[in-house]
Amino acid sequence: MAKQILPHIAEKELQDQADVELKDTPQTSERLPLTGPVLNEMIRKHGMVGEFPPVDENELLDNEIDEIFQRQKWVLGLDEENITVDEDGPLFKVDPASEAELDILWEQMVPGLRLATKLINDVSRPKSFWVETVEAYKDVIGEEYANMTTKKIVAAFFKLVRSRTKFLFRWQEENVGASTAQNPNHLRLVALRHLGQPASAREGTPAMLKLLNTPKGTRSACWPTISMHSDFQKCFSLAHQKRLTRDQRLRLDFQFAVAVCHEVAHAFTMMCGGYLAKEMKLHASDPEAEAGYAWEDFFFAGLTMQFRPWATPYKGPLIAMVWIGKTPSPPTKFFIPMQWIQRLFLKSTWKHARASRRNGFLDYLSLMAAPSGGSEEDRVLTQIEFIFPTEDTKVDTLVYVLREYGSVVETYEEQCDQDGSCKITKFQG
Ligand SMILES: [Zn+2]
Repeated sequence: MAKQILPHIAEKELQDQADVELKDTPQTSERLPLTGPVLNEMIRKHGMVGEFPPVDENELLDNEIDEIFQRQKWVLGLDEENITVDEDGPLFKVDPASEAELDILWEQMVPGLRLATKLINDVSRPKSFWVETVEAYKDVIGEEYANMTTKKIVAAFFKLVRSRTKFLFRWQEENVGASTAQNPNHLRLVALRHLGQPASAREGTPAMLKLLNTPKGTRSACWPTISMHSDFQKCFSLAHQKRLTRDQRLRLDFQFAVAVCHEVAHAFTMMCGGYLAKEMKLHASDPEAEAGYAWEDFFFAGLTMQFRPWATPYKGPLIAMVWIGKTPSPPTKFFIPMQWIQRLFLKSTWKHARASRRNGFLDYLSLMAAPSGGSEEDRVLTQIEFIFPTEDTKVDTLVYVLREYGSVVETYEEQCDQDGSCKITKFQG
């Protein structure tokens, strides 16, 4: 049997890991990671981690999952021994055990994929992100689409995205939750077939030559391969074993939904610009010319991040980064409450999508602490302002200013070591 990338993650290894992280108690206090005690207390008090009010299961999303995310779109990970070297043969060796595990993982992905389906088929606004993208790329889209309406082009490109995109789990670099590769050889991951061979041998193969000679802008060459971080896979495995608490599970589902949609934005943009096209900045408020961030910012008016970038998806609280006005002004960062996340998983939120948008149920702006005054008690949260290092401060020191209901409560300084361990000290407040 081929070496597995799927969670044959030895039961033992999972066990060890879970033992470290969930240490013989389901109590929240033992699990709050990577924050100082005062901060821990504050984020728990405001419902960013830990318990939050239950909802009736009948109220949760139960919609069909979009074709793009269906089970058959998820393929086995990039395990060298499981990749065939026959250039025209199937990419992966038949591996029923791994497929069976992928079935299990997919079951666990369902809640997140239901939300992702709602997010990409958003009806909360008159103009969708996809229409805006097509408009922005109008000049490079090409003659074959010249006589089509923007909406028809969106539909045509989504058809391509739905039929060509594949998903898999694999290890990603630190701080990268997912990534999308342009794959001009119809999911024949030629480069991977030749992993381990000297570069000269790789580059001499017909498939590699085809890859290297694909002209920029070729749409027929765009076969998006979306890689989700193997941390997600690990977490879904833990979820399957019922080892996640309710809040961990919800954060996992939410982050996963945002991450897959972020990547779909890349896949769609790829169809607009064609092979190797540079992504454009769509809005003045986009943090950078990055289609995934552009989608996140369009939908949520901010980006969703883990408080600690290197934490696995279920560990700690999530934060939103919101840019007010044009970038590159520094973003405001604040914790995202569990109840706000929970609302996204409710049928009612989507049944009245436009009203939800108006009421601030779909964006982060409604969560920001009011700058001054006002009766904002029901929506204002613990906000953390991150002050990035300047010449005066040490390179890896961050300063956090905690605000509660708009007023500064405490100020912290955080120092992180190379190995990612951080120390937070309260120094004012
Ligand atoms: Zn991206």
